[in-house]
Amino acid sequence: MSETINEFRTAGESPRAYFRTATSTWVHRPECPHLVSTDAHAATVAERLQHPVCDDC
Ligand SMILES: [Zn+2]
Repeated sequence: MSETINEFRTAGESPRAYFRTATSTWVHRPECPHLVSTDAHAATVAERLQHPVCDDC
């Protein structure tokens, strides 16, 4: 089993640049409107790799 991690350059891409809500399988940019009124938390590296980035970010 292999993971595709070449979507973003590993250098310069902070895992803390993305957030995830408890009920969503997406990750979001901090400024994304989807994070408003949610208990979003900073996405871990694993979460970032497992979940696609929201289209509205
Ligand atoms: Zn989003």
